[in-house]
Formats: sequence, C-alpha cells, structure tokens
Amino acid sequence: MSKLIVAKFGGSSVADFDAMSRCADIILAEPNIRLIVVSASAGVTNLLVAITKHCDISERYVCYQGIEAITLSVINQLQQPECVAAEIKHLLLALKHLIENGGVVYGAAQKDEIQSFGERLSSVLFAQVLRERGVAGLCFDIRQIMRTDSRFGKAEPQVANISALCGQHLQPLLHDNIVVTQGFIGADELGQTTTLGRGGSDYSAALLGEALSASTVQIWTDVVGIFTTDPRLTEQARCIKEISFDEAAEMATFGAKVLHPATLIPAMRRNIAVFVGSSREPHAGGTWIAKEVKERPPYRAIALRKSQTLITVKSPAMLHAAGFLTRVFDTLSRHQISVDLVTTSEISVALTLDENGMSTAFSASVEPALTELKTFCEVSVEQGLSLIAVIGNHLHGSKGIPGDLFNTLERVNMRLICHGASKHNLCFLVQDADAANVVKQLHQRLFTAG
Ligand code: ADP
Ligand code: ASP
Ligand code: MG
Repeated sequence: MSKLIVAKFGGSSVADFDAMSRCADIILAEPNIRLIVVSASAGVTNLLVAITKHCDISERYVCYQGIEAITLSVINQLQQPECVAAEIKHLLLALKHLIENGGVVYGAAQKDEIQSFGERLSSVLFAQVLRERGVAGLCFDIRQIMRTDSRFGKAEPQVANISALCGQHLQPLLHDNIVVTQGFIGADELGQTTTLGRGGSDYSAALLGEALSASTVQIWTDVVGIFTTDPRLTEQARCIKEISFDEAAEMATFGAKVLHPATLIPAMRRNIAVFVGSSREPHAGGTWIAKEVKERPPYRAIALRKSQTLITVKSPAMLHAAGFLTRVFDTLSRHQISVDLVTTSEISVALTLDENGMSTAFSASVEPALTELKTFCEVSVEQGLSLIAVIGNHLHGSKGIPGDLFNTLERVNMRLICHGASKHNLCFLVQDADAANVVKQLHQRLFTAG
C-alpha cells in the first residue's frame, strides 16, 4: 500500500508569505507528502473573475493591480526573489496582454484562461518558499496531465486519460522532488485551459490522489475540520472527528463550502482517506473522512445553499394522462439543466435549480428551457430561496425526524420539503433572508438541546 500523501492548500492557506510558510512547516513535518496542490492566493480568483466581467480596460486594470500587489508582497519576502522573478513577470505580462487585447467581451475559453492565472502564480511562489526551506520543490504545470472535456467553467475530468498522463509525466518526478502544482485548472485535448468550477482545487487534489493511488488526501483550509454546520453561522457548530464518505459527500453536495461537491467521488472510487484540517492550527486535530466509521448518528450536520430557484410547472390538461413528467424532464435534459429537488402532484411538478452551480448566467441557460415548457404548461419561477439539508443516517426510516423539524420551525414558511428518497438527507427550502436563522435554530435543536 502506497504511503504517498497529496496535500492541498486552499486560498487562505497560501494567502501571503507567512501563510505559505506555515504550509511549508506542515510539509517539512510529514515526509510522505510528495505532491502539493495549491489554490490561488485568497482573493485572486475573485479579482480574475471580475476582470472577465468588466468591459472597460481601466476597470480590468484595477483588478490586475490587486493581483499584482498580492504577488509582489510574497516576492518581496523571499530570500532569493530572482529565482522566480522572470517566471512571475512572464505570467503577469501574459495576463496584462489578455486584459488589453481580450476584446470587449471575453469568450468562455478566454475566461478560463484568465482564471487560471491565480493558481499558476501561487504555485510558482509556493515552490520557491519550499526551496528556501531546503526542500526540493518543483513547480509542475498540471495542464500536462489534468485532461478535461471542453466545458469551460465546469469542465469534466477524463479520469482514464489523467491516470495515464500522470504515470507518464508526473509520477517519475515524485521520486526526487516535492512537486507543487495547481488545483482548479486543466486542459482539453486541444491544450486549451479549462477550469473545474469554483472551489475546484479540492477536486483536483482528489483526482490526483486517485491517479497516484495515494494513501491520503489532505485538505488544509481555514477551519479545523468539517463542522456540524458552517461555523460562520453559529458558534455552537462543533468539529466532527470522523465522518463517512456518504455523509461528507452529501454535505459537500448541499453546500458545505469546505469541500467542492465532487471531491469525494475519486476518493470513494479508490477508498482513499481524506483529512480536513487547518493550516493555521495543524495540531488542533481535524476531520477524517473514510469508508468505515465507528458511529453513524441519525443527525450529522446541516448544510445550507443559498440562491436557489424554484420552478413550478402545471398542466391541468394532464389530469389522468400519462407522460407529463417525461415531457418536463426531457425538455430540461435537452437544455442541459440539472435538477436538484423535486416534488410532484398529478398535474404539477416543483423543482429546484442551483444558480451558483451554473456556468453561465441563469437567464442564458434556463430561459430557452422555460420558453419550451410554456408551450405545454403554466410555468412559475421563484428566486431568492435557500436549500437547507439535514444530513445523517437512516433519516428515511427513523421515527420523529420530520417532527423535530416541524416543531423547531413552526414559525417559518417552508416552501418545499423532500424527505424519503435518501437515507442520508432531508431537504427543504426557505427564503434566503430566513436561512441563517433557521440553520441556527435547527442546529440548536438537533445538536445542542439536551
Ligand atoms: P479554501 O480556500 O481553503 O478552499 P473555503 O473557503 O473554500 O476554503 O472553505 C472553507 C470554509 O467553508 C470555512 O471557512 C467555512 O466557513 C465554510 N464551511 C461551510 N460549511 C462548513 C462546515 N460544515 N464545516 C466547516 N467549514 C464549513
Ligand atoms: N481558486 C479557485 C477558486 O477560488 C479554486 C479553489 O480555490 O479551489 O474558486
Ligand atoms: Mg475551497
């Protein structure tokens, strides 16, 4: 069994020189860490996204200057900045070139190219931080092996190709070097840069762990593990020491930002343990995610995903007629719209879409589907809703679970409830404005009330 560990450091962990130095301490203390996956320094990807949204060059420049300042602040604290100066200058010039010559509106491929600069900059800097600590740190361009399709903004990794390319180009380097590479980005078969979706570096680390048959994937972030809910929502949230793949995957799917939704898929395929901990407090423990766990409590966590859209389609003509649902889902599928929650009655169906998960603007991808649905049914759209998911075990077969929910939330308008399809989750919708409070109350009831 391989002992190799893939360690991923998120944006706040590589935010500046001091943060990068703390990550170097973690790497120096664990000789089995051979591959390091980094995110862009905190704030950089948001600035790059802002560049892609501005039409005006001077506004793009303001964002560029923010990125340059973050980069230079690291360079200025290096002992031998000259070792990376030329490479960083080359990257910044290439970004400037895209700002000046990108046209008024960027295309999808250009947007991904621009967004890739955050990870490309941070990985060069981080490898140098490691070298200055006496580690044989080598920066590797992940686009050589992270092969994806060409769905810019949310590219699909091609696992078999990644594994073969990894064996050829990356694996041999790991014998003599500690390799630093970029999360979030990949390349299609034409060599065009792609991205895996926001927060995608976790997914990159897990895909590389799979390709290398690693023993563990470590996700180092700004919290000391996975909590019973987002610790920003309630101080009563507590760290979960051990959680199963199934439960953690549900948490990620339903909005726990600490893990990109797809992270656990490669880990589950290869049964690779995943550890989540804080790079600021590496000794404060963390969460182990594994196939087998000692406990599977009915309530494990609460996740929240804001900005959901509820679409209700109704067709009185379909009373006692067959094929209504088929027609609705066929229409959505042809427009490549993925549906989250669904509830139905005989002549209507209500379903939710996740706007955050959409690579293009809501109206651009959904409007044509709604127009088609309107040709055979009445359609109504409600926005500004939050999906709250209670995650646990045997939720569909335990007594009192909806009761706990209804008792706690008797004053809240629950717009839709889904219970029974999954043993691991119970989901409902509330208004965005009520959501934080609902999570707080429910957390108090399910995790702290004696
Ligand atoms: P990184 O940049 O390291 O990838 P992220 O910001 O993507 O970090 O993810 C960490 C954040 O996830 C935390 O700061 C926390 O606010 C949020 N989060 C949401 N749900 C949870 C949860 N259940 N447990 C821990 N953190 C959570
Ligand atoms: N830098 C990317 C983002 O901010 C990817 C990541 O951090 O995981 O979304
Ligand atoms: Mg993240």
